[in-house]
Formats: sequence, C-alpha cells, structure tokens
Amino acid sequence: MSDPLNPIRRHPTVGVPVGDVTVGGDHPVVVQSMTNTDTADIEATVQQVLELAEAGSEIVRITVNSDPAAAAVPHIRERLDAAGCRTPLVGDFHFNGHKLLSNHPACAEALSKFRINPGNVGKGKRRDEQFAQMIEFACHYDKPVRIGVNWGSLDQDLMARLLDENQRRDEPRDLTLINREAVVESAIGSALRAEELGLPRHRIVLSCKMSGVQDLIAVYRDLAARGEWALHLGLTEAGTGSKGIVASTAALSVLLQEGIGDTIRISLTPEPGGPRTREVEVAQHILQSLGLRAFVPSVIACPGCGRTTSTYFQQLAEDIQGHLRRKMPEWKDVYPGVEEMRVAVMGCVVNGPGESRNAHIGISLPGTGERPVAPVYVDGEKTVTLKGDHIAEEFEAIVEDYVERNYGHSDTPA
Ligand code: SF4
Repeated sequence: MSDPLNPIRRHPTVGVPVGDVTVGGDHPVVVQSMTNTDTADIEATVQQVLELAEAGSEIVRITVNSDPAAAAVPHIRERLDAAGCRTPLVGDFHFNGHKLLSNHPACAEALSKFRINPGNVGKGKRRDEQFAQMIEFACHYDKPVRIGVNWGSLDQDLMARLLDENQRRDEPRDLTLINREAVVESAIGSALRAEELGLPRHRIVLSCKMSGVQDLIAVYRDLAARGEWALHLGLTEAGTGSKGIVASTAALSVLLQEGIGDTIRISLTPEPGGPRTREVEVAQHILQSLGLRAFVPSVIACPGCGRTTSTYFQQLAEDIQGHLRRKMPEWKDVYPGVEEMRVAVMGCVVNGPGESRNAHIGISLPGTGERPVAPVYVDGEKTVTLKGDHIAEEFEAIVEDYVERNYGHSDTPA
C-alpha cells in the first residue's frame, strides 16, 4: 500500500532477520511492542505476549533482568509455540546481560534478538569486556542484536569526553547538539565495534531513543546519513494518553515520511487499567495514516457539529471501528485485501453523501431537522435507505456482506 502520487522512498538499509520477520531492507515497517509483566511470571507474560501479538505486534520485547526471568524465557517460548504464536521474542538486557546469557543458554536459544544498551553494560574497561561478551554470545547463537542507546542512560564516559572536546573549541557548541552527537556516536561506535568482533551488519539494528521530538528527528536523520544499519524508531518516555500519542506521532511521522525507520515501537505509559495493546494500535494507525501499510479497514467519520443533536452517529462510528478491529484476526487470512477497505459514517446530508460515495461503503445519518432515514452507499451507488431502531445492526450486516462478496476469493479482490 502506498500513495502513487506521494511515494515514500525508504532510506536503504540492510535487512535483519528476527525470527520469521525481517526488519529493514525492502520489507515493510515492522510494528513491535514490549511487555510490562515480570518475565519470571510465565503465565502473565505468555498471556500479554498473546494479547500483543493478537493486536498485531509482529515482534515483542520482554525484560530479561534476573536469573528467574532468564530461566522463564524458554518456557514462555514453548508456551507461545504451543498456542500457535510464532511472534519473535526479543530479550531486553541491561547491566548483567553477559552473565545471564552465559548462565542460561536455553534463554539465548529461545530469543530471536538481544537488545543491548551500550550505556548500561558496565563502566570503564569492564564496559568494553562485557559488551564484547554480549556480542560473542550473539555470534555464537547466530542472533541479531539491537544496539539500543537511550538518552536517559547514555554512556557517561563518552559524554564526558565530548563535553571536554567541546570546552576546548574556540566557540563551544550548544549542549543540546553535544547530547545529540553523543547518542549517535554511542550507537555507531558500538555498531562498528560489534562488526569488528564478528557480528555482520545484517545482524545489527540501531536505535537512539530520545524523549524530545526535535531531538529524535535530528538524531535519526544523522543516523540514517551515517550508514545502512536497519533503524528502530521510537520516542522514549512519550508519556500517557493523548500527549504520548501525539508526541510519538509527530516525531515518527516526520521520519517515516522521509523514509527513515524500519521498525517502530510506541512507548506509551498505559492509563490505569488501560490495555497494553494500545501501543500496537497507535503504531498501526501511524503507519496506515501515512499510507505505508494497511492493517484494518479505515472508518471515515465526520466530527459532528450543531447539525447533529444526538451522539448516535458517533456511537455508530465507534461501534463499526471496534467491530472491524475485532473481526480482523479472523478476516485477515480469509479475506485478503480487506484491510484496504474504507467505511464512511457521516452525521448529516452536508458532507455525508459525498464522503459515503467515495468510500467502499458509507452511511449518511440524519442530522437535525432531516428525515429520519440513513441512505447507504456501496461502491459509490446508493443501494438502500435504513430507518428505524436497528440501523447499526443492519449496517454491520451490509458491511459483512460486502466483505464476503468482495474479498472472499483471494484471486478476485475488490
Ligand atoms: S457532515 Fe454534517 S454533521 Fe458531520 S460535521 Fe459535516 S455538517 Fe456536521
């Protein structure tokens, strides 16, 4: 899926296989997520990975921070395989990763990628030794690595050196620029070191997570200009609710539009009781809105205004969106191409018929003072006018019928 009038030219990167998924190269941008369960709690972690995978996460990262967590990883993998879930698992290692991989070979085998944070692998001489050990494990087990620099845990020795160099300049540069330079240097220096140690470029993904939108954009433009490593994008500590969603969308959209980024993760803080799968949904919406991928049929709904006195049409738009999303796990194999379908739910006669005609299926609900009828349009033609108390159910049935007739045979998609 791409808009032929606005093609996005992807920045060329080397594809990195992660389990059955490939990040980078010519492959579509991959959606990934991370669990927030205690990995040692096998039951809870399996359950959350299944939920994330069901929502559309193509790779799931889990924390591996202790011996019990590392010991749990192969059991989690087995349970997922038994449930028919092939989603690759990435182990997130900090501080003690070298020890955990040494003590738990089954953990190393079960993971499809290791994430290493070069700022958290040790200090001074030990940092280099421990980083080298992690890379040797990756080579030994033939696993790819994400060298994941995080602004909040930057290599302090590197930062001190760059600050020192800056002080010696005739005109010292702004501290923000030094910070950005430090994260890029940390990622690229670590990647080059990993390559020297024998890990090929097609086993390396880079990320430099920042919490500021402009910082993230600047850093990734620099990273992309400096090599062909596959890039993992994400705004770190994006925050809660609409703030986190908007900040992530603002940052990632600019980069993705420039063709930068091979996999994305949206780091949202879940609202109390809110689903972890929200981050997957947001990632999919970003990619679909940019026309990079399609995951679920789109619902075009007007915002409503003084011409709509009830919330009925808002509810219908919400219900249809939820219905389509719930149906996708079942539909995606049976009805190929259905994710490209557009459904319009409009609030009155002003823009309703026009938007409805432009969608695959559309309904124009009655606004204030209009006759209480709702014309339905299918492929641009008015086919039926609904009225009464069951408009929502009847419209859903029309959508289902359309899907079956138009996407039911893989050789004759709509
Ligand atoms: S389509 Fe009608 S109800 Fe919806 S925003 Fe426009 S004027 Fe208002």
